[in-house]
This record gives sequence, C-alpha cells and structure tokens, in this order.
Amino acid sequence: MGLNDTGSAPPPADALAIRGLSKTYGSFQAVKSIDLSVGAGRVFGFLGPNGAGKTTTIKIIGGLIAPTAGAVSICGRDLMRDPIGAKSIMGFVPDRPFLYEKLTGIEHLKFVSDLFGMNGAEFDRRAAELLALFELSEWGNQLIENYSHGMKQRLVMASALLHRPRLLVVDEPMVGLDPKGAKMVKEIFRLIAHRQGAAVFMSTHTMAVAEEVCDEVVIINEGSIVARGTVADLRTSGGGADLEDVFLKLTGTDETVPIETVL
Ligand code: ATP
Repeated sequence: MGLNDTGSAPPPADALAIRGLSKTYGSFQAVKSIDLSVGAGRVFGFLGPNGAGKTTTIKIIGGLIAPTAGAVSICGRDLMRDPIGAKSIMGFVPDRPFLYEKLTGIEHLKFVSDLFGMNGAEFDRRAAELLALFELSEWGNQLIENYSHGMKQRLVMASALLHRPRLLVVDEPMVGLDPKGAKMVKEIFRLIAHRQGAAVFMSTHTMAVAEEVCDEVVIINEGSIVARGTVADLRTSGGGADLEDVFLKLTGTDETVPIETVL
C-alpha cells in the first residue's frame, strides 16, 4: 500500500461508494442523484416503500443495468471502468435470482466458482462447507428443479458467498425463507461483517429485520434519500418512535385511505 503526503497509509476505500447516482426511464426519474457509502465490517440496510428505487439502485450496483449518471465503486474499484475487477470481489443476490433448473446444486456452485476462477481443491472444500451451512448437503446432487423455493434461495445465497466477497449485495434476502432460514441468513450477515470484515448491503421491507441486523440504514423515497444513520439515530429523530413509525412518517405512507371507510 502506498503512503500519502503525511507519510501515513491512506485509509482503506469503502466497501461500497455511490456518488451522484441517477437512473431515468424515459422521462421518469427512478433514482435521483443519491450518495451513500458502506464501510467494511458493516451491515447496511436500504429501506423504502414500493417503487422507491431500491431494486433499480441494486441492479446498477450489480452491473445489471447502467446508470444515467453517477459512479459506483467497490473497495475502490470503479464499476464502470473496471467492471470485472469490481464484480470479482462482490457477491450479488438479485430479487428474482435465475437458476438453471437442470443443473444439480453442486453443478450450479461449480459453474459459479468457474466464473470467479476458483481452483478445484478450494471449490471442493468451500462448496462442502456452504452446502452444510445452508443445510443442503443431502441435496447437492439433486436437480435444482426438485428444490423448494426456500432451498433455491439458500443455494443462491451459498453461491454468492462462495468466493468470500468483500461486499455482499442482497435484494430482499428474507423473502421466501422460513423462520429458521431467515434466522440463519441474519446470523451469516452479522458474522461475515463483524467477524470477517466484509460489508453487507441489503434492501428490506421488514423493519424488524433492519432493527435486528443493520448497523446503519438509509431510507429512500421517490428516488431520493430521506434519512440515514443508525436505527437508534432514526428513532431519536422521530422523537423515540419505533422504526416503522419513523419510516411511515418520512415516506408519507401513513396517509392511506382509512381502512374502515372502505371495508
Ligand atoms: P419494490 O419495493 O416495490 O420492489 P423498489 O424500491 O425496488 O420497489 P424499483 O423497482 O427500483 O423500486 O422501481 C422504481 C421505479 O422505477 C418504479 O416506479 C418502477 O415502476 C420504475 N421502473 C423500474 N424499472 C423500470 C423500467 N425498466 N422501465 C420503466 N420504469 C421502471
């Protein structure tokens, strides 16, 4: 590592840095010049109501769609200028993962490991470890088309962790998982962040999940960030209200038609 003007090593780059990120679909601005950064060792929650711009932002981070403006860097690697370098240190779980159903679980993991250039011995050890962790060891040689929805979710999560990413990006990680699977995933997020120093960037609609696992959160509404900080900060700013009330107030989603007037 090089030294800066003062002779000390520069601070490590953030695991994720987003600057002036915008995305326009036709004349509609889905994401409006957002800035955020996620330090190593942090679990970061990305919250917002339906249509706020979470999936659009996450797809840009994963390199699935291009932004209209702005920059994304992963541990100092610019996603647009060095897409392979940036993606090689990221694990990515989209909201609707695609799996080749005619592969077995192990074949799928091998396919992913080849993309990341892992060697055979490393793959064998890591795949066995992850299949055991996600309680899929017995299923490794079964076709994915025979997996339940939750098992597919766990396999996708295992694939994303295979190469020990320094940033894990997950769109709605708890959807489709049973309580045991959800507990396991929350524990894994905390462990890879707090013990192994990776960063986790996750969107969620579940305030209880954000309160339980996230060190920091941002709330996005209509494409703009409307709040950021720790869950405790947000509660304090809302006069001690719980996160759900703060969220509803900031995103205007508490002003719905009174249910009793309709039913
Ligand atoms: P949800 O919580 O419902 O998944 P979200 O916060 O992930 O919502 P996005 O999926 O990012 O929201 O969508 C943000 C806005 O951009 C929405 O109004 C959506 O209709 C719009 N949008 C997303 N993709 C496209 C597209 N390909 N073309 C046009 N509009 C789009």
